Amino acid sequence: MKPVELSFWHERWERTEIGFHQQDINVHLQQFWNRLGLQSGQQVFVPLCGKSRDLLWLAGEGHPVIGVEISPIAVEAFFQENGLYPRRWQEGAFEIWEQDEVRILLGDYFALEPQHLADAAGVYDRASLIALPPAMRERYARHLDAILPSGIRTLLMTLEYDQTVLTGPPFAVSDVEVRALYEATHEIELLYTRDALSEESRWRDRGLTWLLERVYRLTHRSDQPLTAP
Ligand code: SAH
Repeated sequence: MKPVELSFWHERWERTEIGFHQQDINVHLQQFWNRLGLQSGQQVFVPLCGKSRDLLWLAGEGHPVIGVEISPIAVEAFFQENGLYPRRWQEGAFEIWEQDEVRILLGDYFALEPQHLADAAGVYDRASLIALPPAMRERYARHLDAILPSGIRTLLMTLEYDQTVLTGPPFAVSDVEVRALYEATHEIELLYTRDALSEESRWRDRGLTWLLERVYRLTHRSDQPLTAP
């Protein structure tokens, strides 16, 4: 089965094979979020959000949050496990689930249009880009550019390891690839790198000898018209 297929993700959720899900709020999110310089009240987009509790942390920082997720199991679990009672309604290609400051669009990320994200000012990408195989990552990055307002700021987390030892997801995404995907449209700053193997024994058990985790700030360049010399 190819991970590019949405059926792959539906089956992962049906079988609760969701090793990517974190019970705790992501430590890098808490440490680096303020580096984006977003104000409370500014909306944050979380692509491929799963049932991440990081959505609640962002909402707690005062950000209206908008996630997109293909699995109804994930979306229902998010609200139920956090004791929330969302409103639900259908809007075009998406079923929208919303409570207070958290809105999840249940549907395909690639069906999103600029109108859905017109108010977004920031993006939180943890286990989203790296969930996708190589050919889809290019499509994913171009689609982000197509649907987000200019000037957006992104906190991006990646993993890099020897892809010949393990197949993804999560896939290995190198620093070179991050730059190739985003440098035409964004300022790219590497905020943090660590060797994550020591704390992640499940990866060592699967044969990895190194595992780098990186955190980036991406700042979308506003499409300012060039001034005449
Ligand atoms: N960011 C989350 C989930 C990461 S796993 C976290 O940190 O926990 C990737 C998630 O993307 C899965 O929940 C999967 O169901 C979802 N997904 C994969 N392809 C998608 C698509 N095309 N549209 C929307 N969601 C998708």
